[in-house]
Amino acid sequence: MSVVVLGSINMDLTTYVPRLPAPGETLFGSSFITVPGGKGFNQAVAAGRLGAATQFIGRVGQDAFGKGVMELIADEPVDVSGILVDADNSTGLAVINVDAQAENSIIVISGANMAHDAREVARCHEALRSAELLLLQLESPLDISLAAAQAAREAGALVMLDPAPARPLPTDAYQLCPILTPNELETEVLVGFRPTNPTEAAQAASILRERGVETAVIKLGAQCAYYQSGQESGFVEPFSVEAIDTVAAGDSFNGGLAVALAEKRPLAEAIRWGAAAGALATTKPGASSAMPTRAELMKLLT
Ligand code: ADP
Repeated sequence: MSVVVLGSINMDLTTYVPRLPAPGETLFGSSFITVPGGKGFNQAVAAGRLGAATQFIGRVGQDAFGKGVMELIADEPVDVSGILVDADNSTGLAVINVDAQAENSIIVISGANMAHDAREVARCHEALRSAELLLLQLESPLDISLAAAQAAREAGALVMLDPAPARPLPTDAYQLCPILTPNELETEVLVGFRPTNPTEAAQAASILRERGVETAVIKLGAQCAYYQSGQESGFVEPFSVEAIDTVAAGDSFNGGLAVALAEKRPLAEAIRWGAAAGALATTKPGASSAMPTRAELMKLLT
């Protein structure tokens, strides 16, 4: 059972500050960490830790951050042999400030992540020979991701698109990606209103399905998630956890959902896997570092 993730990988440069600086202001921070991130890589780590044989396809630059990222990710249960080292573009960076209330501000420099081209499609094609599912996001070029989606469909693999960060999608994206997993804000950008409860999530999901999506999964933060497919629909109650940091909860949800679907679990159960993985990610700080293991997930699910 295996999953392919095509997407972004960054070095996250995170400073912890008492409060976010005002324009023109210099502040002393309390600490600083450098950790691998990027929605694509976070989702690959989630799928890998949850037990899927996971291949990540992406790019880093030929620079110190690229070397650093490759060293830091070496111990993750993810096949990273599909990461290309790009001599012409810098490694993706996220410059993150986190204040004492856990509020954050983030600047992303896409660099090599936005330079994906036909080489990524070819690597996906190769990887998809033995995979059940392709997982995509929007931090790398959409046309390349959709070409990979087409290859996945031809190979008989499922395709899941996390439409994050928020942006409108062209019609073919809905048709090529049968599983779409927006959060509230991304749903608003796609359908024109922000769902605040399961009834509104059902309305949004119906609109997405009219555009060609087979299964719409709307992530509703602490309220949890709503799903709708041709045969079934439902609302999943949140798992009760002590949330301390919601960064990458959505990435963890996607990893959990992807692994369960690749294992051919029924949709309702797969959504619960996503919800449990999302909840567990809120109990730990950081992005890829907060992704749960399969043992942790099983414990919460039983
Ligand atoms: P994103 O990171 O995209 O904003 P969300 O904040 O919607 O994603 O969270 C993703 C999923 O994680 C939710 O759908 C839910 O299943 C789970 N989750 C998030 N916050 C909590 C919480 N406080 N308690 C339990 N589960 C949560």
